[in-house]
Amino acid sequence: MSNELKLNSKVTLNNGVQMPWLGLGVFLAKEGTEVVQTVKAALKYGYLSIDTAAAYNNEEGVGRAIAESIAEGTVAREDIFVTSKVWNSNQGYDSTLAAFNESLYKLNLDYLDLYLVHWPVKGKYKETWRALEKVYAEGKVKAIGVSNFQVHHLDDLLQDATVVPAVNQIELHPLLAQQQLRDYCKSKNIQVEAWSPLGQGNLLDHELLKKIAAKHGKTTAQIILRWDIELGVVTIPKSVKEHRIIENANIFDFQLDAEDIAAIATLNENKRFGSDPDNFNF
Ligand code: NAD
Repeated sequence: MSNELKLNSKVTLNNGVQMPWLGLGVFLAKEGTEVVQTVKAALKYGYLSIDTAAAYNNEEGVGRAIAESIAEGTVAREDIFVTSKVWNSNQGYDSTLAAFNESLYKLNLDYLDLYLVHWPVKGKYKETWRALEKVYAEGKVKAIGVSNFQVHHLDDLLQDATVVPAVNQIELHPLLAQQQLRDYCKSKNIQVEAWSPLGQGNLLDHELLKKIAAKHGKTTAQIILRWDIELGVVTIPKSVKEHRIIENANIFDFQLDAEDIAAIATLNENKRFGSDPDNFNF
């Protein structure tokens, strides 16, 4: 990956829409002051992308932070990239259309940049996808995609889809490198986005990663996030602490070398910290 990337650099999705390489994830950022301050701090520092979901119960706070940041002249709406997701209990055609409108309303926006099917709910995700295709056709969202879809879910979806998902947001970190799914998505021109890129904080004391971090004068978190970029994967680390939000964004002033990439590749053990997309019950 080029060393010329910056915090405001973007990847072009399969429909021409541009998506920032780095965004802020806000899962478990509390609705109200916490999420408002977190999102405002990130936008102020130069983040251009925010990843929320109906299920995170913080869309109103995210919307307030965006509105205040625009009013204060920190950002312009057209410069930022806002993602939300339809929750499992709302899957199905009509209920997804309603859920989309509710997210838009809570976020206080007139369009979203990306709307995702949060999980591949059996027997439902195709109808859900038809609803996403409709809001996309109406121009209410710039791009549509999926999350937690395995190769077989994508194969199945693509049989009927008229729009190929622009993004697949999946759990991905050095212990779960997702090589096969990444290769598949690349072959279909679906951009991969990493959730829990830091393994929910569990990978930060890993000896090998610490060694690579020391070599570059960087933190372990920065090594992992730069690794995502080197793989061509969009990444959305979460933190509500301003100094970590800043730390996580400072990954554009160095590069990993082939030796680092090869060393990190040895860490894969197909280990999930989150749920298995083929076996979840929510
Ligand atoms: P993560 O891997 O981003 O880890 C977050 C945790 O790591 C934080 O709570 C914090 O304790 C710690 N941390 C962050 N930066 C750090 C730093 N620089 N130094 C030390 N510790 C640090 O985990 P996540 O929140 O699960 O994932 C990121 C985002 O991905 C979420 O906020 C959400 O937006 C998205 N996500 C999506 C799904 C999905 O099903 N689509 C599932 C989980 C998460």
